[in-house]
Amino acid sequence: MTTTPHTTDQEQENMILDMLDKFLAAEVKPHVQHLEHNDIYPTEIVEHMKALGLFGCTIAPEYGGLGLSTTTYAKIIERMSSVWMSISGIINSHLIMAMAVQRFGTPEQKSHYLPRFARGELRGGIGLTEPDCGTDLQAIRTVAKLEGDTYVVNGSKMWITNSQQGNCLALLVKTDPKASPAHKGMSLLIAEKGPGFIVSKKLDKLGYKGIDTCALSFENYRVPADRLIGGVEGRGLQQVLGGLELGRINVAARGLGVAQAALDEAVVYAQQRKTFGKPIAEHQAIQLKLGEMATRTQAARLLVYAAAQAYDKGERCDMEAGMAKYFATEAAQENSLEAMRIFGGYGYSKEYNVERLYRDSPLLLIGEGTNELQRLIIAKQLLERNRI
Ligand SMILES: Cc1cc2nc3c(=O)[nH]c(=O)nc-3n(C[C@H](O)[C@H](O)[C@H](O)COP(=O)(O)OP(=O)(O)OC[C@H]3O[C@@H](n4cnc5c(N)ncnc54)[C@H](O)[C@@H]3O)c2cc1C
Repeated sequence: MTTTPHTTDQEQENMILDMLDKFLAAEVKPHVQHLEHNDIYPTEIVEHMKALGLFGCTIAPEYGGLGLSTTTYAKIIERMSSVWMSISGIINSHLIMAMAVQRFGTPEQKSHYLPRFARGELRGGIGLTEPDCGTDLQAIRTVAKLEGDTYVVNGSKMWITNSQQGNCLALLVKTDPKASPAHKGMSLLIAEKGPGFIVSKKLDKLGYKGIDTCALSFENYRVPADRLIGGVEGRGLQQVLGGLELGRINVAARGLGVAQAALDEAVVYAQQRKTFGKPIAEHQAIQLKLGEMATRTQAARLLVYAAAQAYDKGERCDMEAGMAKYFATEAAQENSLEAMRIFGGYGYSKEYNVERLYRDSPLLLIGEGTNELQRLIIAKQLLERNRI
């Protein structure tokens, strides 16, 4: 995707979203059922995504990216997820990795990695979670020991998306396992695949099919010391948490896309299906559901766009991102269940999209910080901003 120097931000957004809609309609929609139900990685779709520049959505133009605002990016994720949530995951954690390098990397790391990330030549995600911990990241046990000018990494990671098909991760490790508090001994490495970086298993999931989420182990895996993001040890957790604000807006936008898709499916079906001599859309019980679903979707949209706009202005937005993530993903879960009810028995059939939306939505309640954690973040911020 390219724009002329004279296009305004709004024109650029319209043009990009228009191109995206055409791509989704022509290249994705017709293949979703087959790819989803056979859990097939969408290789051809990924090649199209590379050509459209989507791997560089939020990477600055000076490094070959599209340099889009978070607001435009959120709209891209919303649209992708309304068609097939799995393809949004292919760029989501990849761009969190890229954002960590863009915000915290050394000038050499930026010029070496960001253009390759933007082209999708190097792609991947974030390696944080381990078999024994996810929410409590300070408890990770993967260790990187400096030997000369190389870190030697040992440990394991769990639930790492894009780790089989991708070739690079932002990997959270302990460079000083004895540090107190623990975060002072945590660092983030740019980890390209090599000997000792082992994909142990592709995990079989309830939904979010097609995309690879894996268990990994690291056995004397060697990373050159100049791949330590920012070049200073002990800043890894802070770098990761900075990226998670964007990650939460991503997941919120996915929730919005799923909630909208469930609503759209229900609105069409309710007018086609007849019971007792009239379309079910004319029964008040169904109208109540549609009214709630539409309101939830619109409220989610306003929260997602508000959080994205705050992020774009450089404002502190952990509370706004937390609210958007919490509300929009719960909206996805509730709308997909309501759509299934409106579809009756057909909602339970793999022939209809609502079955997939129902399986995809629970992940959103867990990923990028569970919704329990989001409410704690919101409350903490609320109290901090209103100290008496
Ligand atoms: C399909 C999928 C893809 C994923 N992709 C990635 C990825 O690419 N990279 C990556 O690093 N991770 C990834 N994850 C992992 C995900 O981020 C974690 O599962 C998530 O952070 C929760 O961690 P956990 O599973 O260890 O749960 P736990 O941390 O064990 O939490 C279990 C329960 O306890 C609750 N809980 C924990 N602490 C508190 C507290 N202080 N107060 C109240 N409640 C609490 C949680 O809310 C949850 O309900 C993925 C997960 C899935 C399912």
